Amino acid sequence: MNKNHCLMYLFAFLLLVSCSDRSQTEKLFQYFINKHVERIKPINKSLSEVVWATYTGETSYKDLMLEVHRVDSLFVKGDKTAEYYQRLLNNLYDNSSEFEVLMKIKKSGLLTDSLLKRQFVKVYREYVSIQNNWDKTEKIKLKLFEQFFELKKSENRFWDSIGNVSEDVGRAMWIGKFSGLIDKFRDLIKAMNDDVKRLGYDNYFEATMDYYDISYDSLDQIIRVIDNETREDYLQLLGIAQSEICRELNITSNQITPFQYRDAHTNMMTPGEWKVEYSQEDFIKIIGDYYALGNYDISDIYKNSDIWYKENKVNNSFFFCMDSEKRDFRIYSNSKPKASNLSSLVHEFGHALHYKYVDQKVPYLLKEPQSILAEAVAIYFDSKIYTSKDVQEIMGLASLDQNPYFKDFRNPSELFFIRKLLRNIMFEKSIFENPDQDFNELWWKLNKEYLLYDASLTDRLPEWISNQQIVDFNGMHVFYLYAIAFAAQLEEYYPGQQIGPIKDKIMKYGDTLPWNDLIKRATGEELNLKYLINFYKRSNVNDSPISLNNNAHKDLYLRENGCS
Ligand SMILES: [Zn+2]
Repeated sequence: MNKNHCLMYLFAFLLLVSCSDRSQTEKLFQYFINKHVERIKPINKSLSEVVWATYTGETSYKDLMLEVHRVDSLFVKGDKTAEYYQRLLNNLYDNSSEFEVLMKIKKSGLLTDSLLKRQFVKVYREYVSIQNNWDKTEKIKLKLFEQFFELKKSENRFWDSIGNVSEDVGRAMWIGKFSGLIDKFRDLIKAMNDDVKRLGYDNYFEATMDYYDISYDSLDQIIRVIDNETREDYLQLLGIAQSEICRELNITSNQITPFQYRDAHTNMMTPGEWKVEYSQEDFIKIIGDYYALGNYDISDIYKNSDIWYKENKVNNSFFFCMDSEKRDFRIYSNSKPKASNLSSLVHEFGHALHYKYVDQKVPYLLKEPQSILAEAVAIYFDSKIYTSKDVQEIMGLASLDQNPYFKDFRNPSELFFIRKLLRNIMFEKSIFENPDQDFNELWWKLNKEYLLYDASLTDRLPEWISNQQIVDFNGMHVFYLYAIAFAAQLEEYYPGQQIGPIKDKIMKYGDTLPWNDLIKRATGEELNLKYLINFYKRSNVNDSPISLNNNAHKDLYLRENGCS
């Protein structure tokens, strides 16, 4: 059936609906979805193939950007194929008649079935974003990202070229290369703010939070609560880091540079006791043995993956859904089989397993788990490497009993990460709220507020502009913060080796239920921050619940955001 023909049917349905009831509207929308999915499936699949081939070096697209978050954010420099896909996507969405049908359904308020409503939100948002045609912003973004990733790609060459300078001096030189991007970064933030103002938002960050079901208004409060709950513990951990750095480098604590604090965090993630190298087979077997504890099978995922180190591969690790119908789930990485890479690969396999165990009956548009949920599951799996002695034993990892960071902390790097997230969220929120301010001054002010150490004037470099997660601004820091709290609560109810039950409690649902419904189903209670402390510290949880604002989740379908 061609497109026009299909539209005529839609309008015929619509006429019936205007004076009719709920079930007919739902029938109409189901019909719409079926047609929609039929069209987007092959496009999504072709895109996936192109992206995978680019990363694995099978095709000649040398300039594909490092991050590919969504189907319509594929950045390829001047390549015909990319334009072809972009055109296909535009044809798919830029059709006002179909958009009108969706708007009428929205206005009717007759769509009440929860599965249909969740699918409606997804489709409707895609149409809104294409309708708004944010060309100007895309152009600024593309330029900034191109320059950013060109610099990133030159990193290994840079370190080879600078000769005999200290590591601190080298790092300062490296950050200096990025400072030329700050003005473009500011322009982009302003352009993104302008785009969403038309949709009724004050700034882009607010719009992103809304997109992911997070209450913008309660963010400050959540940050405050987590700051208060973790501050004392973090000060203790910082003290340990300071004495370790001073002992190692023979300096006093007021001489410590921000770079040295960063190295201390790396030592928490990769403890010295774990400097082991395996064969590729043994390495994968260790991960497979861990997941077998919950009856999860990684062998098919591994077979499709491209994991091992090659010099010309892009340094990145991510999970990739090639084709959900063919159950083709893969991991891309550029790793050596070393213990220091275990946690990141356990994390990526966690994402892949999450997709793999989504119930086959879940509708196509709801198969992909929402970001908070996806990260929560992967963090729950990877944290066990640090928090469970049984898991360490099964994986043959050396005991951390003698490691100063692990004496009072089960997972010290998680605490450091939480504090960094608080800083990053406040930074992102503030630059979108006030894009004219001095970003570097803000960064170092927040550093002092949340990481609780000061940097000398000469050390206050614009390190944030060389940080991919900051330049990307996709709201990821907020998702991680919620995801860690979510994972901490799962750990409380399914501790140690009990990794099996979350398959039926969480994973099988895909995106058919909101994340805060799922945590309640899986643990019997709302997200409760009291478990967060137990997640990183060796102590008992206190008894009084610390709940997040109950309004944190909003029913997006009901929100009128001024697009009409
Ligand atoms: Zn992840």
